Amino acid sequence: MYSVHYPRAVQNANRQLLEAERRVLNVTTAGRLRVGVGYPNTYKVGMSSLAFQWAVELAASCEDVGVERFFADPSTNIGRTLDTGSAIGDLDVLAWSCSFELDAVNLLATLDAAGIPRLRDQRNHRHPLLILGGAVASINPLPLAPVIDVFVLGSAELLWPPLLALVQENSDRGRLLLELADRDGFFVPAHHLGADHKPNGKRRRIEKRDAHMADPTMVPASHVITPHTEYRSRGLVEMSRGCPEKCRYCWVSYNYGRLRCYPSEAILEKVERIARMTDRVGFVATAVGDHPQLAEILEECRRRDLEVALSSLRIPAMREEVLRPLAESGARSVTIAPETGTDELRRRLNKPITNAAILEAADTALRCGIDSLKMYFLIGLPGETDEDVTGIADLLRQVQEMMVGRGRERGQVGTLHAGFNVLVPKPYTPYARQPMLTRKETRRRMQLVLDGTAGVGNLRIDRPAYRESLWQAYLSRGDWSAYAALETAASGCSLGELFASHRREIEASALNPVEGDPVWQFVTSAPVRDRDLSPSGKPLADEVKG
Ligand code: SF4
Repeated sequence: MYSVHYPRAVQNANRQLLEAERRVLNVTTAGRLRVGVGYPNTYKVGMSSLAFQWAVELAASCEDVGVERFFADPSTNIGRTLDTGSAIGDLDVLAWSCSFELDAVNLLATLDAAGIPRLRDQRNHRHPLLILGGAVASINPLPLAPVIDVFVLGSAELLWPPLLALVQENSDRGRLLLELADRDGFFVPAHHLGADHKPNGKRRRIEKRDAHMADPTMVPASHVITPHTEYRSRGLVEMSRGCPEKCRYCWVSYNYGRLRCYPSEAILEKVERIARMTDRVGFVATAVGDHPQLAEILEECRRRDLEVALSSLRIPAMREEVLRPLAESGARSVTIAPETGTDELRRRLNKPITNAAILEAADTALRCGIDSLKMYFLIGLPGETDEDVTGIADLLRQVQEMMVGRGRERGQVGTLHAGFNVLVPKPYTPYARQPMLTRKETRRRMQLVLDGTAGVGNLRIDRPAYRESLWQAYLSRGDWSAYAALETAASGCSLGELFASHRREIEASALNPVEGDPVWQFVTSAPVRDRDLSPSGKPLADEVKG
């Protein structure tokens, strides 16, 4: 029951969202510590994020903690929680899971709507403690450092419940921040930034290691199913962390570490939990196809009559024993990321997969009963030539011809969907210092693709959203001063207006190579392999240093 006066339309919208949810967990909103777990975007986007649902579940597992969700969604009354309608300013802790830099703007809008001062300096112990986790915290927390009290650098399982325990133990805000500042896995701007707003030392990121992966309680899975997500009533289970590859543009591979898989029994336990709520399950991971028991897991899902979807597959994982049970479980489409059009550029970006292998993978998928494909490409990779770009068009033509051939045999031709992004150089990757491609050159290269695919039927091409990418590149590599542009963006202006006021600094940062020691490069990663630890549990490298 809502505790406040709500516009009737919002009450109805919220009630409909809550009534549509099926749950396997009773998340209590009552507790001595009141915690809001937020997503800086709409309900639909937030509830589609497994990381967000997992953060709610982990908080709910802590003793005497009441948990409520909130979104940056006017239809759910931004600034108030969805679950009880409480003003978020009345809670003790507000923690966002944020995986996309541009959502930082929505985070500021949420604070404004709640009447909570944006700046740390203007808040005190009577305001909620503001916490940010998720990829954005680790990629580059500096643009939000004037706002957030504590950034969580790494796995929620290892850092989020202990953080809440510390909040419960320390009623004094100053002591709490000091305590957190002393621990690996947290970035506390009040203690870790100098007077010049630059980090005064390195901070260590903590990821799940082998032993944690073997623990069934550490397998993230949906605990709420709703039709109002991107995946419409599909429950998600994480399969693995890390990736066996190290593509040179990929932040995930350089920060999540080498591939570690959850045991199949633990994954199937979570599948069983999801099956109590829905018959649609999705497996997610950066390298979902590389789980050594994937074929058996899919077979088990088929036996239980579950409809299965996988997040993007690495091309070498497009094997018949994976694709056939997937198609038999109802999947109609798979997603792969060839990134570029020639073997040579793929080799240079450390993705040594040939066009021949991509065509073979596509053919295997079609033979196994998949009828539509999504292929993702990057424009603006370092060293990219026109030949690499026209190679994309050639590849799309060949895949489409293959789809038409296989489709005729079946009497139905699926759709080929080609999604394009412009490379946003990410911190901690080998391309971190590279300039982003200019808008003019991005347009010219995209035109080569469009010319090369003219007349190809059943092909949908999504062009890069250039200005958004430029803005994202700025926030990925910006320092404290990038907060000024965030403030402008949060005032409700359009991207055009934002660029009218901040074009100079955005372009100077995104379109030029990075020289010297970048200010954002201060997060290091702890080992993810147990064998990289000494018997004392310390990273071997530290032990050697003495
Ligand atoms: S295969 Fe995918 S997740 Fe792995 S390094 Fe390459 S882009 Fe990243």
